[in-house]
This record gives sequence, C-alpha cells and structure tokens, in this order.
Amino acid sequence: MSGIILKTREEIELMRESALVVSKTLGMLASEIKPGVSTLSLDTLAHDFIKDQGAEPGFLGLYDFPNTLCMSPNAQVVHGIPNDQPLKEGDIISIDCGALKNGFYGDHAYTFAVGEISEETKKLLRITKESLYEGIKAFQLNNRIGDLGYAIQNYCEREGYGVVRELVGHGLGTIMHEAPEVPNYGKRGRGKKFLNGMVLAIEPMINMGTHRIKQLKDGWTILTADGKPSAHFEHNVALVDGKPELLSTFEYIYKALCISSEEEYPFRAQPLVL
Ligand code: MG
Ligand code: MG
Repeated sequence: MSGIILKTREEIELMRESALVVSKTLGMLASEIKPGVSTLSLDTLAHDFIKDQGAEPGFLGLYDFPNTLCMSPNAQVVHGIPNDQPLKEGDIISIDCGALKNGFYGDHAYTFAVGEISEETKKLLRITKESLYEGIKAFQLNNRIGDLGYAIQNYCEREGYGVVRELVGHGLGTIMHEAPEVPNYGKRGRGKKFLNGMVLAIEPMINMGTHRIKQLKDGWTILTADGKPSAHFEHNVALVDGKPELLSTFEYIYKALCISSEEEYPFRAQPLVL
C-alpha cells in the first residue's frame, strides 16, 4: 500500500489522546487571543501547557521549526513563525499545533478572529471550516482520495475562493507526515481507496482570492500571492467501521468562546466529555 500505515483500534485510542492534547491547547489559547497579545507569548503558553499534559510539542524542532505553534496571521497561509508583534483588532490568526504523546502525533489547526472582523472575512472562516467537514464526510470506506479533495475544492471554489495546491493534508501516526498525501483538490473516483484503520490530518487551506502562494525568505512562512486573507482548519480523523471518526475536537475552543455547534456530532462514535 505504498507506505500507508493502518492503525489498530488500540493505536487509534492512543492517537485520540494525542489529538486531545492539541484540542485542549487550542481551547486554552482561544481565551488568550485578543488585540495586543503577541504570537510569541501565545507560543510560550502553548509550550508549557503541552508539557503539563505529559506530552511534547510536536512541531518544535521538526524539520528544524523553531517554535511550538505555527502562527499565520491574515495573508499568511501556514507555517508562520511566532514573533513579538501584537495582534490587532480585525486580524485573523491561523494556529496550527502538534503534540507527541505515547509515540503518536496529534496535529490540528483553527483560524481565530481577533476581536471583531469584517463580514467578508467571517465568511471565509465559515466556508473553510464547513469545507473541512465536507472533506471528512467523503472519508468513507471505498471512497478515494480524489473524492475527498473534490468535496473540499468544489465547496470552496463555488464561493470564488482559491484552494492552495502546494500544501496538502496527510496520514498521521508515529510520524507527523505519513502517506498518503491528502490534497484539498481532486477528481472524483481518482487516487487511493480509503481503508479502515487509516488516520488522516484533513486540512483545507483556503484563500479569499487567488490560490497562488509565495514563501518568505525565512524559509517557512507561506502567504497568499495577492495579499488577501487565508484560513486553515484541520482535524484528525480515523476510518472506523467504514465511517469517519473524529479524534480531535473544536469543542474546547467553543467552550472558551461560548459558541454552541453541532458540527462534530455526525462524526462521533460517542458523546464527547469535556
Ligand atoms: Mg497541522
Ligand atoms: Mg497537518
């Protein structure tokens, strides 16, 4: 199966623990994100919070990345490096977080509003997150990678948004980026078939304008070519009994922000106890 590592039920339960370390970290950060706060101060909080849960920051040192979080404001798509610049009212900030526990990685992401943001940007966040669930819905036994990519691409392009091509979702396990690659674009019926025991990081990266991107000289930061905003939402999902099951959750974020949402209900085997 060209390197795809299927996980046992026991391994999937361990991966749920790793995913939940990240979910709780993002939930903790949700209460701290406000105008005037720097991304570097949030990074320090996340580092200590992950350690306190008996886990290791998953990104720190991975491919020599210098920090715990990838922090990508506004036109930055992904892989932004935390710095001491304060966040401003009206910004958006995509936070991608990894954790390593019991030998398995968790890896997910959420794009937060800083204070009040424009209606146009709210819509970008909403559509990008909805497209993540469209992708998850397509992660079914006997569907193929192209079905998942098509679902996300179609959902976003009909709004006129750009779907980033160069960066993709991936298999997840004892290695952060396992096979297969999971593009957010594709053709129905194409690519590898999904199998029970697959665990994927599904992660649409969606631009308000062009899909084209560029990279800063720091060798990390990816930003939109036209300077328009970009959003990134990521979940960790296992294929169990032919159906997608969420290992990660945004419920800790929603609890912190007093948001009520049923979006995750179809993808849970049992109710989540926070
Ligand atoms: Mg990630
Ligand atoms: Mg990922």
